[in-house]
Amino acid sequence: MNTTLLNPNLAEPSPLIDLFSLTQKEYADEVYKRFNKGKEIALEIYSSWFKEGRKPDCASVLPTAKTLFEKILEATDFSIPSSFKQHGSKWIQTFPDGLQTESVEIAMEFGYTLCLSSQVGCKMGCAFCETGRLGLIRNLSVKEIVLQLFYAKNLRKVPIRNLVFMGMGEPFDNYQAVKQAIAIFTDPYGFGLGPSRITVSTSGLVDVLRQFTSEVDPRVKLAVSINGSSNHVRSRVMPVNRRYDMDVLKSALLDYQASHPKRTLLFEYVLIENVTDDVLMADELAAYCTGFTDLRINLIPYNPQSRTRFVTPTKEAIQTFTDRLRSHGYRVYLRGTKGDKEMAACGQLGNLGLRSIKINSMLA
Ligand code: SF4
Repeated sequence: MNTTLLNPNLAEPSPLIDLFSLTQKEYADEVYKRFNKGKEIALEIYSSWFKEGRKPDCASVLPTAKTLFEKILEATDFSIPSSFKQHGSKWIQTFPDGLQTESVEIAMEFGYTLCLSSQVGCKMGCAFCETGRLGLIRNLSVKEIVLQLFYAKNLRKVPIRNLVFMGMGEPFDNYQAVKQAIAIFTDPYGFGLGPSRITVSTSGLVDVLRQFTSEVDPRVKLAVSINGSSNHVRSRVMPVNRRYDMDVLKSALLDYQASHPKRTLLFEYVLIENVTDDVLMADELAAYCTGFTDLRINLIPYNPQSRTRFVTPTKEAIQTFTDRLRSHGYRVYLRGTKGDKEMAACGQLGNLGLRSIKINSMLA
């Protein structure tokens, strides 16, 4: 397919406008730059595409604007180069380079939450995580991130209410693309998702967390993987703690909350037998949580995986830890492990096909 056009002003090839990577304003500005007019048509195209998943009907355009309308359509890249394959609640996006990422639809009381990936693989190396074992293969582009919602909402017509960046990858390690994707998701002329319906989950890359604090809409929620009640334990399961220890992380998180009254915070804590499930660790974790104004703690029993040394705690140990943490007055939620049969539960994205592609590329 020809992906370039002749720009009449510059008389040189000009790439198609990458609609999937732009906010409505950026798209309209690009259209205006090329045609010296057409901002209203750009708005119509953008809204139809992201709200309904279709190009606007030519019949709705005034006869005088029809030629311009067609030229703008021709100059716009609507292509979807990925293929998608469903496996229960999880689906795999395969890119033209053969690499894949996974997204998960989680049924809620009203509608669905879509768990998004931001990278192929991940370099953070968390000891309990299937994706971490792949290492980082590459970042996703803005388009590849946006396509995940477009596919679920506009092609499969799944009523997506919430987005969580908790799939493959560390979103703050691909921050610029994630930030732009959030701007597209929340664009009122496009998907129009409320910022408070989006959660970004990080392992604790403090420098980027500070950027996020100052640059992203304060209603976008932040989740942080804590997974340790002391530096000793956390460094054992999360290597990022050796770079940004728990004190440094806490200082950045307190600044994050202080920066805006709407900043809510979610801590995630994976319970692993004999590693993070000691009841005294619940007390240490409670002490770490002091000073935060709006905090919720999710406890996630470790999901057993085929190739790790870790074990899920007993039901009794999980309940004891939960009760002890609650006794300190925190909002504590014990999360189920929905999706573990399809390897779609937390820390388990990273399919076998991907692993073989990674191994093949290492051997090539
Ligand atoms: S838990 Fe998250 S940050 Fe850690 S290795 Fe897995 S995907 Fe990366």
